[in-house]
Amino acid sequence: MNVPEILAEIRSSWIRRVVNSMARGAGVRENFQSQLERFYDLLNQAVVTGDPAWVDPILYDWANAPTQSDLREGEKNLSAVLNRMLTTTYDLGREDLTEQDAMELLGAVLPVFTYALEKAARYEMETRIAYISNELVDVQTKLERLDRSKSSFISVAAHELKTPLTLIEGYTSMMRDIAKSGNGGDGQLDSLIDGVNTGIRRLRSIVDDMIDVSLIDNNLLSLNFQPILLNQIFTLIHNELTESIETRQLIFDLQEFPGSDVMFFADPERLYQAFRNILSNAIKYTPDGGRVAIAGRILPGFIEVTVTDTGIGISAQDQETIFEKFGQLGNVSLHSSGKTKFKGGGPGLGLPIARGIVDAHGGTIWVESEGHDEKKCPGSTFHILLPVRTEPPDPKIAKLFGVDSKQEKEK
Ligand code: ADP
Repeated sequence: MNVPEILAEIRSSWIRRVVNSMARGAGVRENFQSQLERFYDLLNQAVVTGDPAWVDPILYDWANAPTQSDLREGEKNLSAVLNRMLTTTYDLGREDLTEQDAMELLGAVLPVFTYALEKAARYEMETRIAYISNELVDVQTKLERLDRSKSSFISVAAHELKTPLTLIEGYTSMMRDIAKSGNGGDGQLDSLIDGVNTGIRRLRSIVDDMIDVSLIDNNLLSLNFQPILLNQIFTLIHNELTESIETRQLIFDLQEFPGSDVMFFADPERLYQAFRNILSNAIKYTPDGGRVAIAGRILPGFIEVTVTDTGIGISAQDQETIFEKFGQLGNVSLHSSGKTKFKGGGPGLGLPIARGIVDAHGGTIWVESEGHDEKKCPGSTFHILLPVRTEPPDPKIAKLFGVDSKQEKEK
């Protein structure tokens, strides 16, 4: 037999053996089989013409098929597949052919396989390099983002901290002048001390926010679970914000909803903080005379609270970034212009903290808005989904409140 005849004779058993030894799963096998058939035909051409370059197109396709994740796992190694084909050819020659036919076959296919293996090694090296370069670009992008966030942090933190410091500086220097002049300042001292206190309170709240963000970032936010009622939390926040609501002539619509009077376990201080951040924003980003409403409903295992405003709204692309640290860093001039003043931006930590707190409770927070438009004011609705825990996660605390936790019951 000549070589093409030998190749035709062992074609089906060669393909079957290689498929069985390499491919797992019916779908994979079918695909692999048709590819092997293509390879075998090209091998045949290479042998007949004496030009091993006939196998180039399929080698090229195979070398470029692996995805980034295949490469990461070191799978789909082309050289391994070629080696398996060569071994199968040896085995079949030994088992099914006469010694002479086997020698002839190997003599003809060996140069083609040697060529293919060299080419495969080169392709593999190239794809490996391409993969590493991609990874490098990824890392570089991440580093650049981190670097941007770091410089944004420095500029916003500096700006945020400077404003109250200037305030404190101004008031204390006026106090010094009064002290120097020797007269009591005609009762001015009280208002100056109030001014200093406002500055200090603002500094403290910025530093506290920074500490909270760092706790959340490092998964260190610990919750103090207690039985709570949402309507109590909302009333307290309402009281705290009454002055701003009145100054800004806003309607604050606090609705009783199914779930607002359901007692469940959560951290009341942290939830207060999260809702206060969301409600302060609703006030800040709603023009004077607008409306802010709290509503909600009970869902299986959860309570959903919605905070809706008639404010400037949030564009689709910002609806996710606003929950990221310093997500709203664009315009530093907006910062520190007041806690509840219209569009008075802050350090951009309010929503990341709110999300951190809701996440730590096992809940979810997201926003819906038709877009950002300061004229039409499409408004925004923040959704806060909180799990209704009938017992605190820690059995010791459960005992304290006379609730048998699941773990205790199982004992
Ligand atoms: P900031 O301290 O800037 O208020 P937040 O984290 O509380 O930081 O909010 C991030 C950004 O999200 C805000 O600067 C603002 O652009 C946008 N935002 C938050 N709440 C609202 C809202 N109710 N309406 C419109 N924009 C909002």
